Amino acid sequence: MKYKSLKGVHDIYPPDIFIWQRIENISRDIFRNYGYREIRLPIIESTEIFTRSIGETTDIVEKEMYTFTDKGGRSVTLRPEGTASFIRSYVEHYLYNEPSPQKFYYMGPMFRYERPQSGRQRQFYQIGAEVIGAESAMMDAEVISMLSLILERIGLDNLSFEITSIGCPDCRPAYTAALKDYIREKIESFCDDCRRRFDINPLRLLDCKVPSCIKEREGSPAVIEHLCGGCGEHLESLKHHLRILGVSFVINPALVRGLDYYTKTAFEVKSMSSSGSQNAVAAGGRYDRMVKEFGGPDLPGIGFAIGMERIIQLARSLNDEFEGPDIFICSLGDDESAKALGLANRLRQKGVWAEVSHDKASLRSQMNRANRIGAKSVIVIGENELKCNTAKLKAMKSGESSDVSLSADDIATALNKLVG
Ligand code: ATP
Ligand code: MG
Repeated sequence: MKYKSLKGVHDIYPPDIFIWQRIENISRDIFRNYGYREIRLPIIESTEIFTRSIGETTDIVEKEMYTFTDKGGRSVTLRPEGTASFIRSYVEHYLYNEPSPQKFYYMGPMFRYERPQSGRQRQFYQIGAEVIGAESAMMDAEVISMLSLILERIGLDNLSFEITSIGCPDCRPAYTAALKDYIREKIESFCDDCRRRFDINPLRLLDCKVPSCIKEREGSPAVIEHLCGGCGEHLESLKHHLRILGVSFVINPALVRGLDYYTKTAFEVKSMSSSGSQNAVAAGGRYDRMVKEFGGPDLPGIGFAIGMERIIQLARSLNDEFEGPDIFICSLGDDESAKALGLANRLRQKGVWAEVSHDKASLRSQMNRANRIGAKSVIVIGENELKCNTAKLKAMKSGESSDVSLSADDIATALNKLVG
């Protein structure tokens, strides 16, 4: 019996894993420089945490959640996104008592029951960032420019930063009324979901992916034209500070997010090299009411999430080189193998990636293996080498070699010179 992973759920293994690690390391380095600290959250939460914040009438909650009843009769859900879990944790552990603003990041799997296709999985990974306690649009600009730096360091280009404001509870009633007025007459031409959501959550109609609905809603009023004074100023200030930080962006008044909790700033980063509806590589926005709604103090928040699989797809072509061991120690005979094993161990303690052969393979097959795993250098210990306590260390790429004594110190020094 051969088993297979579930539909839409993938293993990540070499050589792809090297690209994943590279992206994670780049992100960690940049997060550090911006003062973000890691937070690790559970992947399973009470269902209510998501339904209340993401919104009962969103696609995520209505159609995409992995929700089940556990053996204790509780309704639990595999997290479809990170922000709701983060806010739950933030409030639960009184993290707001620390100096403001508080900046966190996380990396990990999310789960959505969607139709699997390229760039759309049922288990997918996000790198997310969240900042609580900063109201100024300067923070929005800083968050977006940090995201831009991460994507740039990964080596991605041809990206479009789309920005908008989706207003706040002050501007929303007037906007919602204008939107409903526009759509009311033709509501019969919309899909069942849209018709059902028209009265309870009309903003969701803007996010419907059904082609005929997209066509029908063309020309409908945009939130950005109905912003209150505060939200309008916030957006202007964001634009101003993005320019100061040198982030190119476009305003997209039609941009909406699939989650109800956003206020003011919303943004998406799209790849212009990939087409179709899976071209959003990262997305985020402001959620100024969420901490309070989760029972915490009235603190604003802003964050984003990068879709790992989608950036891997773009980054794969940039980087197929991966690192092999620094040294492969070949040996012939029992005493020589024991020497090799001991040397490898000491080299590893010194931070060198060393490999040895554990079976009595021929020299030819050991060399073959060294080549296949991409060893940067080899050394052969035979009877003679063991007797004289010296051997030739050879760099694979350049072919250069140098005589070294069979001590970990000497080999490490020579390696430094030969392969860096
Ligand atoms: P989309 O419009 O592509 O469905 P979304 O608005 O549902 O995206 P968000 O909730 O904003 O996605 O998540 C942020 C990012 O996570 C997306 O921009 C995307 O890169 C990635 N993402 C979301 N859903 C998936 C998925 N099912 N598979 C892979 N990546 C995903
Ligand atoms: Mg989606």
